Amino acid sequence: MTGLGWVTDLGLHLPSPVEELCDDQLTRHGVQVFVKRDDLISEKVPGNKWRKLKYNLTDAAAAGMSTVLTFGGAFSNHIRATAAAGEIIGVRTIGVIRGEEHLPLNWSLSAAVASGMHLTYLDRSAYRRKDDPGVIADLRRRLGDFFLIPEGGSSPAGVRGCAEIITEVGLEFDLVCCACGTGGTLAGIAAGLKPGRTAIGFSALKGGHFLTGVVAGLQRAAFGRSTDNWRVECGFHFGGFAKNPPELRCFVDAFAERHGILLETVYVAKMMYGIFALVRRGVIPPGTKVLAIITGPAEPPPRPAAGRV
Ligand SMILES: *Cc1c(COP(=O)(O)O)cnc(C)c1O
Repeated sequence: MTGLGWVTDLGLHLPSPVEELCDDQLTRHGVQVFVKRDDLISEKVPGNKWRKLKYNLTDAAAAGMSTVLTFGGAFSNHIRATAAAGEIIGVRTIGVIRGEEHLPLNWSLSAAVASGMHLTYLDRSAYRRKDDPGVIADLRRRLGDFFLIPEGGSSPAGVRGCAEIITEVGLEFDLVCCACGTGGTLAGIAAGLKPGRTAIGFSALKGGHFLTGVVAGLQRAAFGRSTDNWRVECGFHFGGFAKNPPELRCFVDAFAERHGILLETVYVAKMMYGIFALVRRGVIPPGTKVLAIITGPAEPPPRPAAGRV
């Protein structure tokens, strides 16, 4: 793996397409919403997970590292994407998973293992301390040397990759919206905006107010300064991370019916629901052109836990 030649090995569809949503619920309020389909970048390394891996993997290569280690929950999109990218470009991958091992592995971890990822586990209290030098030194003693990519890929390199989501867009818009988990995507896209444009990040977590400090910190680490053109919206967590109540499911079904796009439920559906609600309330005022980032594809349908990958 040298330079960025390996990027072509991933068969990526870039730049990702931008489409307008034609929807009465928007035109009635005089708002236009465009979606940037980062979910279509790649089947195996899609969405903002590709954006964040790009410069992390470049840095790993530049450092001459043949093993990458990263962190995530048991259904982490980032874990699967890292495993798939590592398999394609020939880098060994280790996934450090939050919590206990549960066998048989769920579909997400099975897919990571099928891509050659080695899994190891940290109990919840050790996982909370995963950025401590002591915890990382312990992992190095157990697993050998590695290039570390933080949870969600949100290192300064990952944040810089997310800024490219915006530099790809030629269309005029006023407001860009994305979902927020670790905050790396919001940090990057807000930093990439022209003056006068703003960003809203919709927290997928309950109590996401802490993200404001996190996003500003990520911007300072990546670009040396934070910007004041964004905010975190905390009103659309639907009960907490990965919660999917009937009201959200109804919205996803109706959206698929109207637009032929099945929304990813953990992050993207909450953002999209939030955009429509803010348009209804006039918080996103008439005349606004919104760019909504579809940061990843819908999950595969539920399948039996055992057997197939
Ligand atoms: C990981 C993920 C996010 C969260 O992005 P952060 O940069 O961690 O805030 C949003 N959408 C999708 C689809 C994701 O997989």
